[in-house]
Amino acid sequence: MNKIYDVAIIGAGPAGMTAGIYASRAQLDYILLEKGFAGGQIINTYEVENYTGFSSISGFDLAQKMQEHLQYLGGSITMAEIKAIRLTENGLKEVETESGSFLAKTLIIATGATARKLGVPGEEQFSGRGVSYCATCDGAFYKDKTTIVIGGGDVAVEDAIYLARMCKKVYIAHRRDEFRAVKNLQTKLLALPNVEVLWFTEAEEIKGNDFVNAISLVQNQTGEKTELAVDGVFIAVGSTPNTEFVGDLVEKDGQGSIITNSKCQTSVDGIYAAGDLRSGSVRQIMAACADAVAAVMDIDKQL
Ligand code: NAP
Repeated sequence: MNKIYDVAIIGAGPAGMTAGIYASRAQLDYILLEKGFAGGQIINTYEVENYTGFSSISGFDLAQKMQEHLQYLGGSITMAEIKAIRLTENGLKEVETESGSFLAKTLIIATGATARKLGVPGEEQFSGRGVSYCATCDGAFYKDKTTIVIGGGDVAVEDAIYLARMCKKVYIAHRRDEFRAVKNLQTKLLALPNVEVLWFTEAEEIKGNDFVNAISLVQNQTGEKTELAVDGVFIAVGSTPNTEFVGDLVEKDGQGSIITNSKCQTSVDGIYAAGDLRSGSVRQIMAACADAVAAVMDIDKQL
């Protein structure tokens, strides 16, 4: 007969690892499942300066510290890709992976989010050949070259600041005339001499031969079209929640984010959601951690 855990935690980003830390301290019998690297989206963030206690730390280092913290308390991460989750007849939560199934009394879904596609011609064709969704992963390939970032949120502005260190010239095209990004990032960006902001500008097509060599843009107020010679296009237009494997088991909003109450309980008893995939999440590292705390404390009380 299969072992029955108190909690199965899916995803080892900040939310999942925090859930593990709290579950360890509450002496819950849990399994923490992750398909890739521990840390999730933050491992691609070159600088985090809004995680209390660390005035400046790379996302990679912060993720490592979280994992060390988890291990210090006796926790560990099991590598497995989740295929599906379902309820058994007696209300247990079954997590199906490619290497077998796990049973648990409760479940925390903490699989985060993935970069959203822009959906313009050339994007898919040149993906990995000049089109990138991760400046810290691919920026080094663009030393002394010209790049463009599409988007106006924290990630787009951070990416442009990062690329400006190595690129000859960085454009950032945003569809409005005001960034969504936090003000101190905007200040840093606007002080950089090799960055040019293109307001009210949208991408229409990414062009090239073997690799990207140009982008067609449209000024959405005047309709004026331009073509810029660029070597790389970095797309940073938000993210979509990683909730496909959840199916219809719990209630989601129109974006596929999981709806919860303030204790991070979903519409199904004993299933919780924590972090960026939770509907209404402010998508901050500390908020993801806080979700996990609320979920584990409630589980501890329920069990
Ligand atoms: P975001 O805040 O949702 O911003 C997405 C940006 O892309 C917006 O400026 C949006 O324009 C633009 N956009 C969306 N769809 C577009 C399209 N089809 N064409 C052109 N532009 C489009 O996403 P994010 O930057 O990935 O950040 C996600 C979350 O993570 C945010 O809550 C952010 O605060 C958080 N985050 C925090 C930190 C940090 O605190 N250090 C770092 C990174 C991310 P509009 O503005 O016009 O909607």
